[in-house]
Amino acid sequence: MCRHLAYLGPPRSLAELLLRPPHSLLRQSWAPRDSRGGGVVNADGFGVGWYPAPGAAPVRHRTTSPIWTDVGFAEMASVTRSGAVLASVRSATVGMPLVATACAPFSDDGWLFAHNGAIRGWPDSMARFAEQLPVTDLLTMDAPMDSALLWLLLRRELRKGTELGDAVASLVLTVAEEVPGARLNLLLTDGEVVVATTWTHSLWWRSGEDAVAVSSEPWDDDPAWLPVPDHHLVLADRSGVEVHPLAPRWGVPI
Ligand code: GLN
Repeated sequence: MCRHLAYLGPPRSLAELLLRPPHSLLRQSWAPRDSRGGGVVNADGFGVGWYPAPGAAPVRHRTTSPIWTDVGFAEMASVTRSGAVLASVRSATVGMPLVATACAPFSDDGWLFAHNGAIRGWPDSMARFAEQLPVTDLLTMDAPMDSALLWLLLRRELRKGTELGDAVASLVLTVAEEVPGARLNLLLTDGEVVVATTWTHSLWWRSGEDAVAVSSEPWDDDPAWLPVPDHHLVLADRSGVEVHPLAPRWGVPI
């Protein structure tokens, strides 16, 4: 399992968000509290995406180094501030490549995306979906792996103008139906809205003071953190959070 988080709110340093809290993403990378589905240490790399200013294109740092060994990132993180951040530490699924481009966040057109989970039977189980994509998408995908293919499928829907929540919900429900046992905690932001799903892995949220955070695990002991039940969709922005059951009423299957 990977661990991921998204934050929208007043600008904070990446170190304040990712490295310094008592149960930060840094700590979750080697001592997560809620591992499900195998894998405990998230040492196969990490990625951080942040919006340097409202409306600006996101910037990313992705590497195969464990987050605790990347001293350059630690220095940069203490002086880099943002009001919209998405980050992930990776425990690679068996059979998936160990390259920086397999580390979330995946990004295009101002969106940032992460996937905590795995798709059984990869790649055969996803062949039907891959066949729907232009071959140029497949030839230019970040890495030959489940999360990168999910991103291509989601990106296609977003480029059609589908609402973020509808696009994410449709993808989860369609893939889960086609591939029973798929683990699909997805996380998406455009810098203004965060959409997240629970599909077998943990997820929590906290909101207040013009800020919202969605995270695989609470990064401190603030009682304001609330768990998201399994098979739910979170729609969050700086003013609040909605949590909905992931039911077929969401969108049209892709
Ligand atoms: N399957 C994805 C990968 O290999 C996500 C893994 C995870 O959540 N542990 O990166």
